[in-house]
Amino acid sequence: MENPETIEKQPCPMCKTKNLTMMEGEVEIPFFGKTFIFSMTCSNCKYHIADVEAAEQKEPVKQTIEISSEDDMKIRVVKSSQAIVKIPHITTITPGPASNGYITNIEGILRRVKHQIETLADDTEDKDKKKKARKLLKKLNRVMWGDEKLKITIEDPSGNSAIISDKTQTTKLKVK
Ligand SMILES: [Zn+2]
Repeated sequence: MENPETIEKQPCPMCKTKNLTMMEGEVEIPFFGKTFIFSMTCSNCKYHIADVEAAEQKEPVKQTIEISSEDDMKIRVVKSSQAIVKIPHITTITPGPASNGYITNIEGILRRVKHQIETLADDTEDKDKKKKARKLLKKLNRVMWGDEKLKITIEDPSGNSAIISDKTQTTKLKVK
């Protein structure tokens, strides 16, 4: 990251203690452009928000990719807090107050999804739900090893998201 700027010991909006660190910086992302990164993290209550925003104004966008190899794990993904990430038959990551924006790769997205499924499975006593979770985790592992294909779609009305690969299919997103 270029010129990261950090301000420490700020008041936290959640716990009100002065343990909040604000971070701001920018990165140049090939085929996407200059992107601002912003985050706030409280070391006391673990409050954390983060977001990304392209320097250039972007159009609402819908991008789809089919993951088919281990190499695809390295494909860069920019996901803003406004993005909806759809993985058919597995999960949908929706925007909301707890939604963060970040720069990651396909592997990072899948790891987050795995973590989400694991947490849900740990929290339930329902045997069927646990069984279903184990099945999904197995499927995700096969995808990560390149043994199974998987489609991922990102829709972002703010345009601040992208799956950066020549395999990506881009369509215009109609904003209601
Ligand atoms: Zn706090």
